[in-house]
Amino acid sequence: MDKGSDPRRLIRRDLLDTKPYAYVSPLEELSQGAGVPVEDIVKLDGNENPYGCSPRVRQALADFSYYHIYPDSEQRQLRKALESYVGVPSNRIVAGSGSDELIDLILRLFLEPGDRVVNCTPTFGIYSFSTETSGGKVIEVPRDGSFAVDVAGTAEAIRSNGAKLVFVASPNNPSGNTTPEGDIVQILRTGAVVVVDEAYYEFSGETVLHLADKYDNLIVLRTFSKWAGLAGLRVGYGLFPESLVGHLLRIKPPYNVNAAAQVAAVESLKDIDYLRRTVEAIVSERERMFNALSDVGFLAPYPSRANFILCRVSGEPAEVIHRRLRARGISVRYFDSPRLRDHLRFSVGKPEHTDALLAALRQI
Ligand SMILES: *Cc1c(COP(=O)(O)O)cnc(C)c1O
Repeated sequence: MDKGSDPRRLIRRDLLDTKPYAYVSPLEELSQGAGVPVEDIVKLDGNENPYGCSPRVRQALADFSYYHIYPDSEQRQLRKALESYVGVPSNRIVAGSGSDELIDLILRLFLEPGDRVVNCTPTFGIYSFSTETSGGKVIEVPRDGSFAVDVAGTAEAIRSNGAKLVFVASPNNPSGNTTPEGDIVQILRTGAVVVVDEAYYEFSGETVLHLADKYDNLIVLRTFSKWAGLAGLRVGYGLFPESLVGHLLRIKPPYNVNAAAQVAAVESLKDIDYLRRTVEAIVSERERMFNALSDVGFLAPYPSRANFILCRVSGEPAEVIHRRLRARGISVRYFDSPRLRDHLRFSVGKPEHTDALLAALRQI
């Protein structure tokens, strides 16, 4: 073969050094690493719902007879079902293969090479990852000591960089705090597109969706991954100004939300009472877990409105605690970044998962 034809020379230059996304480990890998059967792994690293999906979803998936037919590209049934759950007409809703895909689609819609995106860090990793893969440039505005958004700094960064977009996760992952509505309003007033990621809305009960009546530059993202237990099926949605929906539908991959995901999401919305009960169980377990973690000498938990708790770790390095827990079959989230290097994030599981975590922390 002619060496001169190495296809890597044709790769987009700005993608040659992209850092891989730090995804959570699959169950099998955790199981093999710890020598613990898959069913005994305590998985508190991905903010997944330990109660799983609604039992009605399992039945609906088993009964569905059209897996051989392409799914509806316009997601009509799903968007209709979301209409009453969210209280927004379906012509303002677009679903994605997880809200991750919508983040990517939004960036594709707005960014030209080199365009700026403001990110309030530390926060969810996909915002910077997808900005970079879309050819944009991330401007970081650090959150303060209690992880509140630096509103003045964010507005200033948008103005001085001519940023087109800003992402605000509320509750924020990994810190668990929400951003007050007044702060979001100030950021909306800059005129940039403000993406408020409410992936944990069902746990916090707090939304800025009503601000869309007044601000045409607000996008709100939600997902079925966390509260509805569908992380593995990949289905999320965005609530957009009506003027953007046609553009998004035109650039999205036609069959982006697969048939199983659409069936599962629609069926979940028919079993809201069941899902609300699991959300309540998780929220009350979060409070018990917070108190218990406060009693662990080397941990300082931050109050959370989501289904996870971030803790500052003193004494041993967080990475060591992370590794020791993992060797015992308990997986939690460690962040290899300067600001979070002495922190760990624990997803809220079932009471027995909290008990196993606490027992292991005491041994450590
Ligand atoms: C988990 C998470 C998501 C991802 O949602 P998917 O719908 O599974 O892609 C989005 N935003 C935040 C802040 C998250 O923590």
